[in-house]
Amino acid sequence: MQQAEASKNNLFQKDKDHLWHAMSKYNEKAQPVVVKQGEGAWFTDMDGNELLDGVSGLWCLNLGHGREEIAQAAYEQMVNVAYFPLTLSHVPAIELSAKLSEVLKGSYTTFFSNSGSEANEVAFKIARQYHAQNGNPEKYKIISRYRAYHGSTLGALSATAQANRKSKYGPSAPGFLQVPPPYSYRSAFGDGEKSDLAAADYIEEVIKWEGADSVAAVVLEPFISGGGVLIPEPEYLTRVSEICKKYDVLLITDEVVSGFGRTGEMFGFMHSAGVQPDIVTMAKGITAGYFPLGATAVSSHIYERFKEKGEKEHFRHVSTFGGHPAACAVALKTIEILENEDVVNRVSKQSDSLLNELRELELHEQVGEVRGVGFLFGIELVQDKDSKEPNEELAAKVIAGCKEKGLVIGRNGDTVPGYQNVLIIAPPLTSTEKDLRFLIDTLKAVLQDLH
Ligand code: PMP
Repeated sequence: MQQAEASKNNLFQKDKDHLWHAMSKYNEKAQPVVVKQGEGAWFTDMDGNELLDGVSGLWCLNLGHGREEIAQAAYEQMVNVAYFPLTLSHVPAIELSAKLSEVLKGSYTTFFSNSGSEANEVAFKIARQYHAQNGNPEKYKIISRYRAYHGSTLGALSATAQANRKSKYGPSAPGFLQVPPPYSYRSAFGDGEKSDLAAADYIEEVIKWEGADSVAAVVLEPFISGGGVLIPEPEYLTRVSEICKKYDVLLITDEVVSGFGRTGEMFGFMHSAGVQPDIVTMAKGITAGYFPLGATAVSSHIYERFKEKGEKEHFRHVSTFGGHPAACAVALKTIEILENEDVVNRVSKQSDSLLNELRELELHEQVGEVRGVGFLFGIELVQDKDSKEPNEELAAKVIAGCKEKGLVIGRNGDTVPGYQNVLIIAPPLTSTEKDLRFLIDTLKAVLQDLH
């Protein structure tokens, strides 16, 4: 017993001394949560505490832990062909690129990388090269939205619009600009549903004033996730898509979080009528978190223009591990499970009743708004309903209270000072009824206690 305690403390010490954690706040006193084992939506830490993972790792563990068939797919691929770069080709990448085109319900050719950030970098480079090769070398600007997160590498960070994440890493890459997001609760365009369409129309204004022949692409998450779970009316994206078409601006949907069933459709853009993005970026759920993989699916009308140029003007980009054979095999297995187990439909069916239950929390004076789609929910905490002043302290307390009761939930990213006030809930898509019950009951109890 003593020995186990000593080896645990030794591990904690090594963690503190040598492991540089993401977004670490260097709290010397805080003990790291070291995951020891996982099963379904649950994991156990080194102290034997069992916790329900209400954020699917980092919105990626969509099928939960312990899917042996996924591990088996990786194993079989590794003992067969361990690695090959995609300057050549291999079977899992070929099969996966074809499968992605099918599930995207269009005609797409995919460039593989290792992460969501990289998938977005690739998208931006392709968009710029596409216009340059079409005789528009000045058409290079990328429009994104405030609150958006598109990744941590310098290009993706330049499209990211959360001041705290960018300070000290500037200047941002040139050619990136931002517009307000659709956010009816705190809209720059007045109240109500119409504010979403006004936010879309504002993009047209910006394109016009910047000069349409200077704008390459609009990049957006169909539902801003880490920036505070914003759920616009479906017509918002339809309108943005129309505007993009009108000005020959490419529409890039970042489906890193919203892809592969998270929102109750296979992809977030599928909630909006008539939308078929020019480029779709993916990561996270593409492998259900079992392996790193990024993917940039490019509509064939763009890819064809690259092909026409022949060998002279190819896409000069390579990623050593992008589209690793084991990653592609894991992604294929993940999509097979999503389809065979009808996961996406089940999420869609369960979503409304979960949202309705969570909305009961709006009875609390400090719960400003509860939003959600599929298994992606945000609870915006405020000082009071009238002032709508963000309430970060309460968010921290709810998260701590939930953890004490065995539930891990998250909150929106490090946006601007004072605005980390949206609780985020995104459990694995295969969570059982019992898991979901525990999640809701725990959250309700913690909020009740805090009042
Ligand atoms: N886009 C979105 C919408 C994301 O949420 C993230 C990661 N949280 C990324 C891109 C970047 O993905 P990665 O961390 O794999 O680089």
